[in-house]
This record gives sequence, structure tokens and C-alpha cells, in this order.
Amino acid sequence: YLWRKHQLRRLLSAKHEQCELFNDAECDEDECDDFDLKLSEIIAHGRYGKVYRAEMNGKKTVAVKMLPVHDYESWRNEKTFYKTSLPHPHICHFIGACKQSDGDLCLVTELYPFGSLYDYLKEHTPSFNESVTIWHGIASGLVYLHHELKPAVAHRDMKSKNVLLRSDLTPCIADFGLALRLNNASFENAIQVGTRRYMSPEVLQGTIKTPLNEAFKRIDIYAVGLIIWEIAWRTSIPNAPKPLDYRLPFEAEVGLQPLLSALHQCVVLEKKKPETMEHWNKDRVMRDIIVETILECMDEDEARPSALTIHSRFERMKSNVQVVSQKPDVVCEETPCSFTVVHE
Ligand code: ADP
Ligand code: MG
Ligand code: MG
Repeated sequence: YLWRKHQLRRLLSAKHEQCELFNDAECDEDECDDFDLKLSEIIAHGRYGKVYRAEMNGKKTVAVKMLPVHDYESWRNEKTFYKTSLPHPHICHFIGACKQSDGDLCLVTELYPFGSLYDYLKEHTPSFNESVTIWHGIASGLVYLHHELKPAVAHRDMKSKNVLLRSDLTPCIADFGLALRLNNASFENAIQVGTRRYMSPEVLQGTIKTPLNEAFKRIDIYAVGLIIWEIAWRTSIPNAPKPLDYRLPFEAEVGLQPLLSALHQCVVLEKKKPETMEHWNKDRVMRDIIVETILECMDEDEARPSALTIHSRFERMKSNVQVVSQKPDVVCEETPCSFTVVHE
């Protein structure tokens, strides 16, 4: 950890001085990696372009996000984010960027065989321990962005489609097309960006307050609250009813392709929070950690917990889950995975 911190500091002091914002004109926009890509099938259609499975340099299988030339800004922003940050276990692993002869722009990353968290949750109902792994990993990636990177970075498009899963279900935050370095965020950056469904009340209303750096982090935290809820909705809890089918956050309230006005009505005027399951309240961990965290993340007064606070809750949960699973004969009255809850 200390080594990583040291490396990070070295890298950032060298690179960030030349490149204050990801979109800064001083970044070397044409810096491209040289590799030979053979695209095979499309694995996903993203917001801007397509993502392919591909073979790199005749051997390694990778994922290639291909963007049309008019999405240059998004490509450059994402590429610059990756090139100026050290790898992290919960941030998508970047391999390189290049321009194709026809002008298409590519970003090459490690291929995550399970695809996105959204894809996974549609088909699977993770066990409680698996969900803890996913919650914990997302929080860890966000701590890296919000606290460990100097200057900090806001993602600005946190959602289950932008979290990728390894085959052991450890998650990685991906898609940095809208990421913003928070050293000199200005009101120009406070325009409404991201995915409507995951927009916080202040983004929907256009009332982002200063200090902007903290405001942008809180906007990410709101969206993470919804991601935590999506996972909880599909989690299999021992001795409880089976999870219901996958639902996007607020799907019941605003449908599949909501207008901004529908979300404004739901989130700002009616102050709705996603539905919780009856049985969550009978489980001490679900009630006191997961439901509490979801509600706190979605606090409309912007008194949301930091990524560090969320991470430390999941860290304790994770170590407790391990202790409980090593001792199968532990008798626990409320739930097999409960533990003593300590509030910050
Ligand atoms: P966009 O900016 O167009 O949303 P993303 O980077 O989010 O692009 O990629 C779109 C989708 O492609 C993701 O939601 C995910 O389903 C899939 N995807 C992206 N990168 C990978 C990868 N490295 N491995 C597996 N699937 C990926
Ligand atoms: Mg995306
Ligand atoms: Mg994107």
C-alpha cells in the first residue's frame, strides 16, 4: 500500500502538472499505442460506441471500446484519466488507446468475462457474501478516485453498467469518459451530465453548491447508493424469500426510458427512495448497514457519507463475513451473517 502511495505521488507530480484537467489542451492528444487488434464479436453497445472482444498482437484477448471520431472528447478524457493514474484493483485495467485508419478511436482494456454488474444482476442472484465482495470493491474503487488520487477525481457517471465484474465477482469501476479532475472544477463543469436515472436531486434541479469539489463527490455517492440498492435487491439472504426479478433503480416509478421531468417529479418533488424489501428489516446487517447506507447516500440535504465512510462499513462487514464463514457452528439468532454493528 505504501509503495503504491509513493508511486502514485511520483506519477502524479510528474504528470498532473502538465495536465490539469483531462480535457486540457496540453495533453498529448495524439499519443497512441501501437498494437495490432483483430476485432471479433460485439459484446456491448455503449452510450457512444460499441465494445468488441478482440485479439491483441495475435495472442491476448482484450475488450476494445470503439468510438466514432465525433466522440473525440470522451475518448481523450478517458484515455488521459487512465494514462495519468496508477492501476488499482477496483478500477478497470487499461491496456492502451489508438486511432484506427478510418478515424475510429479505440480504448483497449482487460476483458471482463461477466461484463457489467447490470448484466450480472439481470441473470444472477448473488449470495450475501458475494454481494459483500461487490459492495466492498466498488467502495474501494471510489475511495481511490475521491481520496487517494491527488487531485481527486469525480466519475460523474456511476451506474451498474459502468461497473465490470471479474470471474471472482470483484468489481472494477469503468467508463471514465465524463470523469473530472477536482483540482479546479468550475461551474462550467456543473452542467447536467451523467445518466438521468442516477442523477441526484441537486443535478436534476441544477442547484449544485460550492465547494464544488465536495459537491461532485457527493453526486457520485448518490449514484453509488442506487448501485448498492440494485445489488441488495438481487441478494439471496438465508432464510428469507427469494429475490425478485432485476429492476433498475426507480424502474417501478419512472419506467425504462424516463424523461428528466419524470425523474424530477419522482426524486425532487416526491423525494422517493428505492423500495426496500420487508425482510431486510428483520436482518440486522441488511437493516443497519445496507438500508442505512442506501438512505444516507441518497440524502437530499447532501449530508451523504464519504466513500471512505462507506468503505470502512463494508470493510468491517467483509472481515466479519469471513470470520462467520470460517466458523460454521456459530449460532446467530437473527441471521447467519449478522455481527455487532458499530456506527460511526
Ligand atoms: P460507454 O461510454 O459507451 O457507456 P463503456 O465503457 O461503459 O462505454 O462500455 C459499454 C459497455 O460495454 C459496458 O456497460 C459493459 O457492458 C461493456 N464493457 C465495456 N468494457 C468492457 C470490458 N473491459 N469487459 C467486458 N465488458 C465491457
Ligand atoms: Mg458506460
Ligand atoms: Mg461513458
